[in-house]
Amino acid sequence: SKNEGRNKLKLFDPVTLHSRQLQRQIVGDLREGIRSEQLVLYYQPIVELATGQIEGCEALVRWNHPIHGLIMPDQFIPVAEATGLIAELGRWVLCTAMRQLRQWRDNPAKSTPAFSMRINVSAADLQSLEFVDDVRDVLLKEGLSPDSLVLELTESAIIRNNELDRYTLMSLRRLGVGLEIDDFGAGYSSMGYLRKLPVDRVKVDRQFVKDLGDDPCQLEFLAAIQHVIRSCGLEAVWEGIETAQEAELLRSIGCTSGQGYFFGKPLPEADFLARLKATRGH
Ligand code: C2E
Ligand code: CA
Ligand code: CA
Ligand code: CA
Repeated sequence: SKNEGRNKLKLFDPVTLHSRQLQRQIVGDLREGIRSEQLVLYYQPIVELATGQIEGCEALVRWNHPIHGLIMPDQFIPVAEATGLIAELGRWVLCTAMRQLRQWRDNPAKSTPAFSMRINVSAADLQSLEFVDDVRDVLLKEGLSPDSLVLELTESAIIRNNELDRYTLMSLRRLGVGLEIDDFGAGYSSMGYLRKLPVDRVKVDRQFVKDLGDDPCQLEFLAAIQHVIRSCGLEAVWEGIETAQEAELLRSIGCTSGQGYFFGKPLPEADFLARLKATRGH
């Protein structure tokens, strides 16, 4: 029948076959990759728009695959989330980033008192009862204060609104770590819930800056977003700033913190450190 034909076609579709094989290979390799230190963190500066001073960084994971080379997170984070490997990956990111921050602080010449580390937290991590303990343990182990860590969570993770998530968020909040909504405006786009969520920061999705162009209406729209975030008592960070003009326009409407290729791409540890030193040397 017609149906059988369609199924057959699907079964032998080389693209499907290839991606399934690749996916299975990635799952197998990823477990091994996490354990044998093939993952690596890159660090992207977050700057104070008025001064250009680096106020913190975001840790972004890459996978240095022995055969396929450097793999970007979009290609393996979804696999990790679908297979449960994300818990192990998330723990590795947390420990590695905070150890790195402590090493930067240990070296007096490079010390950065108010500098904070941001890491991306998957929705699945909120479901794990151990996550709060992991965060508390790593801060104790590295001797870092809770406000040196900011956790970035997507809107969808934060407003899923189940009891366990809320309990985890409240526990993290009590611990004193920063909580930030990532990609704000990309999904639910509702300003209404901003006041109700247990977060203290918002990272505005880069789509808004991308659309900025020369349209004065868009700039007013961004000013309104900035105003709403501030009037809810939250800090705003603007991501995806790629040009001097974008940085200047955002500054002109009262934005204080930004991130993007204009200020610096994500860099491996050694290069990021060189950047930190160069900035501070002036
Ligand atoms: P994200 O959290 O929204 O991270 C920002 C992404 O935008 C990064 O891509 C960064 O390299 C990129 N970016 C930064 N500045 C600019 C800019 O000016 N223009 C443009 N076009 N892009 C810019 P990346 O590193 O490929 O990460 C992609 C996503 O993967 C992240 O999006 C995040 O959702 C996820 N991810 C990355 N690292 C981790 C991690 O350690 N754990 C988890 N759970 N997810 C992660
Ligand atoms: Ca992020
Ligand atoms: Ca983002
Ligand atoms: Ca994202």
